[in-house]
Amino acid sequence: MMAQYQAMRRSLPADVLLLYRLGDFYEMFFEDAKTAAPILNVALTKRNTVPMCGVPYHAADNYIARLVRAGKRVAIAEQTSEPKPGKIVEREITRIISAGSVVESHLLDDQRPNYLAAVFLLGKMRGLACVDHSTGEFTVAEFADQAQLDDELARLTPSELLISEEQLAVFGELGASQPYDGYAFLPDPARQMLCDHFGVHSLHGFGCADAHSAVAAAGAILHYLVHQLRRPCDHMRTMRMRENARHVLIDAASQRNLDLIDSRSGKKHTLLGALDRAKTPMGARLLRDWILHPLRDRDALGARHDFISGLLEQPFILSKCRESLQGIRDIERTVSRLSQGAGNARDLQALAISLGHIPALQDDLACLSVPYASEIQPFPDLVELLETALAEEPPAILRDGGIIRDGYAPELDELRSLSRDGKSWIAKLQEDERKRTGIDSLKVKFNNVFGYFIEITSSKLAKVPDDYTRKQTMANCERYITPALKEMENKVLGAEERAKQLEMELFLQLRQQVCTRLVPLQQTAAGIAEIDVLCGLAETAQIHSHVRPVLDDSRGLLITNGRHPVLEQTLVEEKFVPNDTAFDPADSLLQILTGPNMAGKSTYIRQVALVTLMAQIGAFVPAENATIGMVDRIFCRVGASDDLSRGQSTFMVEMNETALILNHATDKSLVILDEIGRGTATFDGLSIAWAVAEHLHDVIGCRTLFATHYHELTDLANTRPAVANFNVAVREWNDEIIFLRKILPGAADKSYGIQVARLAGLPKPIIERAKSILSHLELHSAKPDAKKQGPKAKNTRQDAMPLANAPQLDLFGDM
Ligand code: ADP
Ligand code: MG
Repeated sequence: MMAQYQAMRRSLPADVLLLYRLGDFYEMFFEDAKTAAPILNVALTKRNTVPMCGVPYHAADNYIARLVRAGKRVAIAEQTSEPKPGKIVEREITRIISAGSVVESHLLDDQRPNYLAAVFLLGKMRGLACVDHSTGEFTVAEFADQAQLDDELARLTPSELLISEEQLAVFGELGASQPYDGYAFLPDPARQMLCDHFGVHSLHGFGCADAHSAVAAAGAILHYLVHQLRRPCDHMRTMRMRENARHVLIDAASQRNLDLIDSRSGKKHTLLGALDRAKTPMGARLLRDWILHPLRDRDALGARHDFISGLLEQPFILSKCRESLQGIRDIERTVSRLSQGAGNARDLQALAISLGHIPALQDDLACLSVPYASEIQPFPDLVELLETALAEEPPAILRDGGIIRDGYAPELDELRSLSRDGKSWIAKLQEDERKRTGIDSLKVKFNNVFGYFIEITSSKLAKVPDDYTRKQTMANCERYITPALKEMENKVLGAEERAKQLEMELFLQLRQQVCTRLVPLQQTAAGIAEIDVLCGLAETAQIHSHVRPVLDDSRGLLITNGRHPVLEQTLVEEKFVPNDTAFDPADSLLQILTGPNMAGKSTYIRQVALVTLMAQIGAFVPAENATIGMVDRIFCRVGASDDLSRGQSTFMVEMNETALILNHATDKSLVILDEIGRGTATFDGLSIAWAVAEHLHDVIGCRTLFATHYHELTDLANTRPAVANFNVAVREWNDEIIFLRKILPGAADKSYGIQVARLAGLPKPIIERAKSILSHLELHSAKPDAKKQGPKAKNTRQDAMPLANAPQLDLFGDM
């Protein structure tokens, strides 16, 4: 047996843990045992100096889950022959479970996809392929540079990432990465493998025939799933090319800074949290994908907006649609599980229940003024089959029967009545025998070793009749059998056994029925996900008075009474104050926003980015009116945000991120800069901020919102045609500061830092001292140079603020 184990162990990559079935346990040996025991919190034992540990097979799922969550891959070796004396049991590795390929629902979060990805560098292109094995989703993409690939990886956050073992150095440190056989990435065999899998001659139909690096990565994934993990992949029926040009690109830092999906303060404070009203897990996952991949395709967005309008015109239909959606479960993952030879009777039942809601949903959709061009189908025959076949409450386990409803299969009914009759005969036996023997305490019992037997307490042994055969003597009783009892037992157990087998066969037939409809079922699931997202967005629009944005190809942006989509929902103490935004390429392309801390600068500039992003995922937007010149990228940078996890200094991170903007922004981009330059000494920071702003205005010409503490920057408006100054209004009252949250034209007049510090609870003596230092500094600082207030200046400062330290003025005095 150990030789068999060793051979199997050698066939696996070193890091895979082998769970080896031995009777009622899965055992691990040697290094595997040492690695796994602490993770599983089980005892590490030794037999003949071999370290080992094991887990009972019936509880294996939980243990496997723990190993997978700890980032391990787990191979399962099952017994494939019946144990016979003198012969070694045959075993086979039936599957390898890895974090990126799990299908078990207890290992998955139903609100988010679980990706297995692969990357490959070919020539200058970086290919990416990505599979969600739990749904069959399969996408590919190509990137011209590493930064873009990194951004997409940050959006998809794969649980497992395959890198050709020959290219480990090329890609360096990437999260969740895993070296894989370089051969699997060779473009030609990869292409061939994909063609064979999909049954096509070329990959033209998937739009990626020329994306060689992506095809190589896709082939490697398929190779990995089929050959290394031994997974059925029939549910991966199609492959989709993600065209970068179709999407608004949002880099990893912007995704973080805009709190799109994750936020340190929890999901509630993210855009996803504010918009997610999906009723189905499929919808929740799709919304997430939409938020991370907004569109630049006006027709596609128009269709989404039309549909939401249609729903809002008929609120009654909207709520009926949502009621139907409420009853629909995760068709996508259920069907995938079933098609991979996994899944149980509850999956079939969930599918039937879900499909059962589709006719009502279709009827409601038909009432809308906007037709929904979808491929959803109700599959009435499948629903009927499953409903008549499946028991009311089928068990989660397949082997114990109870799956199939009475009346569905005559043969099964017969076996069941045999076993029922036998059981009632046995139940009656106790009564009869008590009467016959006069022993009141006589009991008929059952255990797995002896089957049915009659138990008599020791004090009554004298009354035992002759036809009883003694089977076992216990401490205070004796156990007997009779020929009639054994005969009936055979009938009962035989019938039960056959019934269970038959139920299993019937289950497999039903599952097969579902699998023959795999593709239309997947399309239906996709259609429902989309309807679910749109209904959710419509409801959000209804509750929070969002409006339909007008999209155009201009470089303008007009928002009347815009609101921050997340804050407007979560703010408890204040009411959210709306603000207007107007970008015009002629005179307000770069907007500089000044104002005291806590005034609302960061909120406002993010609000503009989020409104734009929402418009481009097809959602309505939190404003009274919005006309949005569609953007190709959104950048959001926050100065001095530490990224300790990446081991980079604050300032380095800030500059890396700023470099990325300067290298990638186009005149169609939207750039949000929040206090850039703060991470270094004042002069450095200001100089960099100044140069960056100039470049964005002069060279790139993108719409930019720049919140800053550097009041000096507001002077840019004097020399640049399309720079405009704004500030957040505050009112001083009794030395207090009141935040009005209103964005006004013109630069802020002062920083109010001391007032804000007081609000924050700085001790009074310190506040007083700070005030006296400030007035001293102000007294000794020079007046701003008059000559830079050129005649062209639009937003000149009303009363130029006396700056805190003179050298800054010298620096910029003659610019
Ligand atoms: P700043 O960046 O100017 O320091 P923030 O944008 O961080 O200020 O805003 C500080 C707080 O003010 C926010 O957390 C929010 O609670 C509140 N706030 C900001 N804008 C508004 C608004 N328009 N309406 C109501 N409250 C707001
Ligand atoms: Mg701020």
